[in-house]
Amino acid sequence: ENIQFKGDVEAHAETHLLHDQEALNHALHNSTKEGLPPISVSPLHGKFTSILVNLSGARNVLELGALGGYSAIQLARGLKGKGKVTSIEVDRHHRDVAIANLQHAGVKVPDEVEILLGAGLEVLPKLAAEIEEGKRERFDFVFIDADWPNQWNYFDWGVKLSNGPGSAIYIDNAVKNMFVEGVVGDHLKEDGLDVVAQIGADTRVEATVIQTVAAKSYDGIVLAVVK
Ligand code: SAM
Repeated sequence: ENIQFKGDVEAHAETHLLHDQEALNHALHNSTKEGLPPISVSPLHGKFTSILVNLSGARNVLELGALGGYSAIQLARGLKGKGKVTSIEVDRHHRDVAIANLQHAGVKVPDEVEILLGAGLEVLPKLAAEIEEGKRERFDFVFIDADWPNQWNYFDWGVKLSNGPGSAIYIDNAVKNMFVEGVVGDHLKEDGLDVVAQIGADTRVEATVIQTVAAKSYDGIVLAVVK
């Protein structure tokens, strides 16, 4: 039997590679029931972030955009019990649903995943102050999944709050936002939204773009590592 492009591959991989999905499926169902939009990472994509966190040996993960906590559960799983995910979420209802979903998944809140309520650009300087005061550790892995117009700002903060060389910054949905829904060209440059060009000119990091194809959509990520 030929495996068809895209959908069949995804279904096959999900069937065979994804285990312990009860809590994750519950997070999706409960989020839908609570009226949250269906914009979590896909199951395989979430597993990818979990594997990356594990590979990087991260202890502290920073997430921008918790929604219903689906990706936070996966990021926490990648930590293998040795650290903490700190997620920033602007919407109080999303935050509350995320906490309920995390608790259902057996994740300790706030010890294993802490969700900070507020807009990214307001919360990030507070995290920086806490790091300066020795009250909080630096981040080894930064997962940016919110508020596209501020991607560069989040990236810049991610590098500043990072644990230095080897720390990773991951931007989700970069291809969709820049190349599918946006058009790379003059307006992106004028609006300061050509994140790929900005990151390419940033001597603090090296980075790549990985295009992805999945049942949900054509998309892609930026993955950067601090030099
Ligand atoms: N990471 C989640 C997952 O995969 O399960 C999905 C996050 S969803 C794509 C984006 C989230 O970012 C939404 O819950 C939204 O409320 C939140 N958000 C939007 N603007 C924000 C901002 N300025 N600061 C923090 N969170 C924001």
